[in-house]
Amino acid sequence: DDTLLKVNDLEVSFFTHAGEVKAVRKVSYDLKYGEAMGIVGESGSGKSVSSYALMGIIPEPGKILNGSINFEDKDITKLSEAEMLKLRGKEVGMIFQDPMTSLNPVFTVGSQIDESLKKHTNLDKKEREKRIIELFELVGINQPEKRLKQYPHEFSGGMRQRVMIAMALACNPKLLIADEPTTALDVTIQAQIIELLKELKEKINMSIIFITHDLGVISEICDKVAVMYAGNIIERGSIDDIFYNPKHPYTLGLLKSIPKINADEHERLIPIEGNPVDLINPPKGCAFAPRCDYCMNICMEKVPPVYSVEKGHESSCWLLVKEEFEREVKAL
Ligand code: SF4
Ligand code: MG
Repeated sequence: DDTLLKVNDLEVSFFTHAGEVKAVRKVSYDLKYGEAMGIVGESGSGKSVSSYALMGIIPEPGKILNGSINFEDKDITKLSEAEMLKLRGKEVGMIFQDPMTSLNPVFTVGSQIDESLKKHTNLDKKEREKRIIELFELVGINQPEKRLKQYPHEFSGGMRQRVMIAMALACNPKLLIADEPTTALDVTIQAQIIELLKELKEKINMSIIFITHDLGVISEICDKVAVMYAGNIIERGSIDDIFYNPKHPYTLGLLKSIPKINADEHERLIPIEGNPVDLINPPKGCAFAPRCDYCMNICMEKVPPVYSVEKGHESSCWLLVKEEFEREVKAL
């Protein structure tokens, strides 16, 4: 079997004073070895929280309520904290938007990577230093012998993200989770980091989950995409499915908001209007209904079913069921 990860009906809620915030509602997907999946959605869509569940790092007062997360042969939701610690950093690596918050300012970057190698490998001091130099070369940090002895503040934003990537890759993880890794960087550096991740994916055949609010970035490195809205995956499919045959009005809205490469200054993005969903009292029917141009009566009443467009391409929207229904009527 070439499946690395299988997430089934995952549900995560935050129990706050105001009530239960249903951050992730029945999310399911799978990921093969060496495959890269993008998770796209606006903030609060559940894209980060659903991925933190894979690392066992859902912040308080969050809780996995339901579902399973099978990583190879084990269900992560059933692991003890000790087993989770082993998995984290060794089999699953993660990089975040702001590398400064994940690096300790008082230790050299080399010693921080060394910590992880000490924890997860049997390498001796010499071998670990060799490995760190190798990692720096892999992520494009020049003069590694000198750089590993420096502190985080001696690196630029883009270089710090390279250090984080080196750290995440130290123990050869099978899965890398990248949570908006380029959002804080300027456009040129952003492109360089994307290029690096793309190279690494090919070189070391690792699986990647790439979380972003920017659908444009996804096409560069991902094989497939899950679009999240209000805690649900509302559409998923291959890059081609999502970019050339989108079936959900929200996906269509996201595609329209991608800046065009040669757009002149007057060509404005078309944002999707309306407010994010109240996750304590989500709408009875389709969560996107209040913002949807295609909303019908049934959309306000009932949650749309997951509709299989074709193998690997699914979307949850009443329009599809209607299309299907109309096709059947026509065929009579
Ligand atoms: Fe719009 Fe209805 Fe489809 Fe929801 S189910 S996206 S409201 S058409
Ligand atoms: Mg986030």
